[in-house]
Amino acid sequence: MIDHDPWLLTPGPLTTSRTVKEAMLHDFGSRDQRFIEINKQVRSRLVDIIDGASSHVCVPLQGSGTFVVEAMLSNFVPRDGKILILINGAYGERMRTICGYHQRATETIEWPEDQPVDPKSVAARLSADPDISHVAIVHCETTTGILNPIAEVGEVVAKAGRSYLIDSMSAFGALALSAQKISFDALVASSNKCLEGAPGMGFCLARKGALEATQGNSDSLCFDLYQQWKGLEANGQWRFTPPTHCILAFHQALNEFDEEGGVAGRGGRYRANCELLVTGMRKLGFETLLPDELQAPIIVTFKMPADANFDFQSFYDGLSARGYVIYPGKLTVAESFRMGCIGRLYAEQMQGALDAVKTVMKEMGVASGQP
Ligand SMILES: *Cc1c(COP(=O)(O)O)cnc(C)c1O
Repeated sequence: MIDHDPWLLTPGPLTTSRTVKEAMLHDFGSRDQRFIEINKQVRSRLVDIIDGASSHVCVPLQGSGTFVVEAMLSNFVPRDGKILILINGAYGERMRTICGYHQRATETIEWPEDQPVDPKSVAARLSADPDISHVAIVHCETTTGILNPIAEVGEVVAKAGRSYLIDSMSAFGALALSAQKISFDALVASSNKCLEGAPGMGFCLARKGALEATQGNSDSLCFDLYQQWKGLEANGQWRFTPPTHCILAFHQALNEFDEEGGVAGRGGRYRANCELLVTGMRKLGFETLLPDELQAPIIVTFKMPADANFDFQSFYDGLSARGYVIYPGKLTVAESFRMGCIGRLYAEQMQGALDAVKTVMKEMGVASGQP
């Protein structure tokens, strides 16, 4: 029996530190001055992470990450707009579904899950279709862990004079992204991925002028980012019940993010986790779906071993019993599973997971690369 919470090697929810969890041991009223001050700090710290203080503002939103993706798309793309969605995985596909619900005219370019978005095809499509007003991209496609070239695509979009929307959910805080270097109107992420807070809220970092221009676009009360922003600017309060505990945890998580050295420190730990994991798994005979140069240090997709003794459910259960939660794959290109490198995980947990993999493989009678 394990005597601690399982280590979550997943795309989320993720392992958080004890101190982040402890930060939630308080009840704050939504009008409490201390709480209002914490909100203000959280919002400005998020903008600072993208060097956006002079150009961008932060609009937080209750809910899981998808809520704020939906808010971004349905607010920034006006009802007479047309969006081009770049799809190479399930999260890009989900953006298409969202735009369907909101009846926004939608175009897509699709790539196989193991290939990154190609800026050249984006450029060609934009010059062929002047009606496209917005382009949406997923920064790290968590479906596989592939890194998309958001800077190169951003240049293409800016050159064509269109508006750029980024889902940076699983990359934000771990991979550098500067609003001074990439021109975008909105970017979304959440409290519980690389920033290691508790799940429960997302946020949109929006270019101020672009956010102002969304007034009246929203076809939903709850997802109206303009109104959410106006409310917060007016009196520092959320329009509806704020996720108070989640915000307290997020505030603490941002302290720990700073203590670790911000994006460089956080991204550095994840890169080390990823390297340890990939090297160790390869030694055990596993193959990664992606070549190293396409892999973001967020989550790694491994191909199912061909050995007939390998059974994913037993593998999953065996790791789970030892305190390591992994994630099934959902790919069309290959049978696979995923192991994450993000959340409050260090070399010790990554090595522990590798040891558990080795033991479980032995139990199943699967030949591993090691004697
Ligand atoms: C996690 C994630 C989301 C949001 O997922 P939720 O389950 O709603 O939190 C969106 N996009 C990407 C790329 C993600 O990794």
